[in-house]
Amino acid sequence: MSTAKIRTRYAPSPTGKMHVGNLRSALYEFLIAKHDGGDFMLRIEDTDQERFVEGAIDIIYRTLEKTGLKHDEGPDKDGGYGPYIQSERMKTGIYMKYAKELIEKGEAYYCFCDKERLATLKTEVVEGKEISLYDKHCLGLSKEEIEANLAAGKPFVIRQNIPNEGSTTFTDELYGDITVENSEMDDMILIKSDGYPTYNFANVVDDHTMNITHVVRGNEYLSSSPKYQRLYDAFGWQSPVYVHLPLITDENHKKLSKRSGHSSFEDLIDQGFVTEAVVNYIALLGWSPEDNREIFTLDELIKEFDYHRISKSPAVFDIVKLRWMNGEYIKAMDFDRFYEMAEPYLKKAITKDLDLKKIAAMVKTRIEVFPDICEMVDFFEELPEYDTEMYVHKKMKTDKDSSLAVLKDLKPVLEAHDDYTNDSLYELLQGYAAEHEYKNGFVLWPVRTAVSGKQMTPAGATEIMEIIGKEETLARIDKAIEMLS
Ligand code: GLU
Repeated sequence: MSTAKIRTRYAPSPTGKMHVGNLRSALYEFLIAKHDGGDFMLRIEDTDQERFVEGAIDIIYRTLEKTGLKHDEGPDKDGGYGPYIQSERMKTGIYMKYAKELIEKGEAYYCFCDKERLATLKTEVVEGKEISLYDKHCLGLSKEEIEANLAAGKPFVIRQNIPNEGSTTFTDELYGDITVENSEMDDMILIKSDGYPTYNFANVVDDHTMNITHVVRGNEYLSSSPKYQRLYDAFGWQSPVYVHLPLITDENHKKLSKRSGHSSFEDLIDQGFVTEAVVNYIALLGWSPEDNREIFTLDELIKEFDYHRISKSPAVFDIVKLRWMNGEYIKAMDFDRFYEMAEPYLKKAITKDLDLKKIAAMVKTRIEVFPDICEMVDFFEELPEYDTEMYVHKKMKTDKDSSLAVLKDLKPVLEAHDDYTNDSLYELLQGYAAEHEYKNGFVLWPVRTAVSGKQMTPAGATEIMEIIGKEETLARIDKAIEMLS
């Protein structure tokens, strides 16, 4: 291992939303760099012009900013290794220069085969995918034939020349040494007919020329890595440390896809998850600390993160667990920020002029995600239809008859009372219970049921009464008496 400063890169392709897997790569790259005081770089990989999605670069910037994964260098922050966007790097001629160097070394060659000819090549199934192995037809072209084709402006690609004999080994930090027979590897395209490099070539040239020391990426790149290793060897470069991450699956152990509804960072935020909770949860998708600790701030992750502890087994994205974790973050959140995030949901459920801040305080420790709020507080707006069976409660020793009796008896007491604050109301009801030698619950259960129409509420009877006020309380008690009679 060299003692060079650690330099990692997040190298997204701007193809749409920020997939959870991409965010995990970015996070781990960030943590590896920051754990050792290194640099974290952003490089935009936009060489596949067909997959380019307008606005996707903005999403990348916004997500890194929001999650706190601050890059030290990138298109918007020059660190001396730019340009940081591959389409711009291409214009400097860097990829062509290195491709030609490989041609000179016999490690690559021009290929002028057209679509029709390529379609006749025999295909082979590799890892479930049908691919056609190029037959090295153009490797046999003479220098003169190549010159003539180039002069005539014939479209070409540049291919890597992989020998048919021997094998290639590369090392991944987690998977160890991986050896592949050369005959099984295709002469992959390095430069496409549009002049753009393929990812396969650009990642090697860029990681080297940008002094990247550690590469973290999804294990879908694992099978191509021997080819990258061959490129490093051909150039005489030292390859970076590779860390290929396990697949992220859904609950059914299928690759986490859009269909799950929560495969991207944006989806999760839209569903009311808190950024810090999502980052915390994603850190644990494949990595775990030495102890069983689960809650980490980003700074704590920087301190604790050790990439040698990344697991090879697939990581299951467990939305139930994320919900739990999110709830923990909401509980710990300061109230002002909580209220700012809760307000839209409160306003969706409640249009009446009620004390939303008080209601917010009631739900803060009870929700897991913000949209939970609506269903929890909608009874403040309007008494729901409810079943009188709810008045029957064994532990409180209440039933429909006892509830009717208590509510009827309490009605004039509540009418005569004017101070509808929680404390005063509580004192009133407690006093009433004591006077009749009832247990508190015997009185509070029917009252709470009557004023909420719900089995579960985020607060007790008198807190609810304070919010809805005297008039509405009495109307709801009337309704209860009517229903129970
Ligand atoms: N542009 C590639 C992607 O978005 C990056 C892979 C890598 O990190 O090398 O999947």
